[in-house]
Amino acid sequence: MNLAHLLGRQARTAGAQIAIFEGTQAWATHVQWAARSAGLAQRMHQAGLVPGDRIVIFMRNHPRYLELLWGAWWAGLVVVPVNAKLHPAEVEWIIDNAQARWAFVTEDVVSVALKGLERQINAQSAEADALLAPVADWTSVLIAQREPNDIAWLFYTSGTTGRPKGVMLTHCNLMTMGLTYFVDVDPIAREDAIVYAAPMSHGCGLYAIPHLMAGARHVVPQSGGVDPAELFSLGCDIGPLSTFAAPTIVKRLVDYAQLAGLTVSDATHAFKTIVYGGAPMYFADLERALRVMGTRFVQIYGQGETPMVATALSRRHIADIDHPRHVQRLASVGVAQTTVQVRVCNEQGQDVATGETGEVLVRGATVMAGYWRNPEASGAALRDGWLWTGDLGCMDGDGFLTLKDRSKDLLISGGSNIYPREVEEVLLCVAGVAEVAVVGGPDPEWGEVVVAFIVAQTGVSLTAAELDAHCLQHIARFKRPKQYIFVTELPKNNYGKVLKTELRARLTEG
Ligand code: AMP
Repeated sequence: MNLAHLLGRQARTAGAQIAIFEGTQAWATHVQWAARSAGLAQRMHQAGLVPGDRIVIFMRNHPRYLELLWGAWWAGLVVVPVNAKLHPAEVEWIIDNAQARWAFVTEDVVSVALKGLERQINAQSAEADALLAPVADWTSVLIAQREPNDIAWLFYTSGTTGRPKGVMLTHCNLMTMGLTYFVDVDPIAREDAIVYAAPMSHGCGLYAIPHLMAGARHVVPQSGGVDPAELFSLGCDIGPLSTFAAPTIVKRLVDYAQLAGLTVSDATHAFKTIVYGGAPMYFADLERALRVMGTRFVQIYGQGETPMVATALSRRHIADIDHPRHVQRLASVGVAQTTVQVRVCNEQGQDVATGETGEVLVRGATVMAGYWRNPEASGAALRDGWLWTGDLGCMDGDGFLTLKDRSKDLLISGGSNIYPREVEEVLLCVAGVAEVAVVGGPDPEWGEVVVAFIVAQTGVSLTAAELDAHCLQHIARFKRPKQYIFVTELPKNNYGKVLKTELRARLTEG
């Protein structure tokens, strides 16, 4: 079992088909892709890299990313994808922890020599061209033999607390993840095209796997990032596109579509499927997205430790507006995906009753093998075969899971549990509120009190009194923020997640 066989299979059966695009320009057919990846694998072996060795990819999105991934797998190597926004010192920490031998970088990401490597290759240089030069006959380069539990992707968590941990994902994990996509997210056809609008170093890059399984097209935007105008225009030229977008990106697409006066039919031309997840999608945002862009959304809930796969809220469930619990379902993350079991448990690992909140546990073939060289963290996260996700949620009688919050974000005020997300949902409905983050602030009397950080929309001025009045109408009194702090922006990590630890620290430090 080796993910590289997916490429060999398409090179055989659909060799002449254009597989990779940079913007609207053809970059490689399946055969060209295979010939370059096989060439790279051969040269890496000749240079002394052996199966199981780690190589780092520290690059912004680029078509070459796909050739490097499959070249590394062809040679049996482990890929360590690193977020292009990390500081060189953070990357050096990862290089050291992973004991990586080589790194492929782009100069816009890092222009210094990183410590701890045997070789650092600029992916856009003559050196890289030589390494990736196509071999005349790709079938002559054998794909390294890999076992299902051999590691393919060593993914460092974004580390909103403490040092990042290396999540070990195996060939079997990623094969299962790819196949599950067809059943629970979207059946992919050969004519489809996936556009990499989010960093390929994170979950987004893994969408290459199911799309290569189907022999579909892979599109890397020219800008390498998220530019709604570019994505819509790409969609009209070579789409309809499928994409993965975090809720903040969905919001930007919808804003753009509204401002540009686009209709649902325009959105249908540009996009086949928009998969969203990775962070909570607030109800008000989802409703607007559906209104503006139509029912092309599918939600997934997963985490680095079980990539893409835990639950999904299907297009069918999202469209089922006549269902008596439709609104609750839209606010949920859907039902367990086909290849995993999902439970909600108390701290002792016993199932809680239907509708009660507990920690979400996942078991199945997509769950990581553990954390790299970190038995302590692995033992805490994986117990009796179950992954403890650190997410709190509750499940209804039909198996729909609703996430409440991360267990570490839960706050307890005067003995009552308060889920910040619930308060955030309410505040986001106030006109003029752009963003909200609710955290617990220290309080001698209550233990913790609810504090809301508010970002107002440009040109709008909001008062604590009007926000409080709105909360009084919609949630229990004890959940109302005791304090409102107006800020111009919220601190976020490199993947756009709000850093609540930093907000809490601001409160403790006064
Ligand atoms: P990461 O490992 O960086 O992908 O982050 C995974 C975490 O993001 C999960 O443990 C959840 O807390 C959150 N998350 C992922 N998907 C969703 C979703 N659909 N809705 C709400 N939160 C999500």
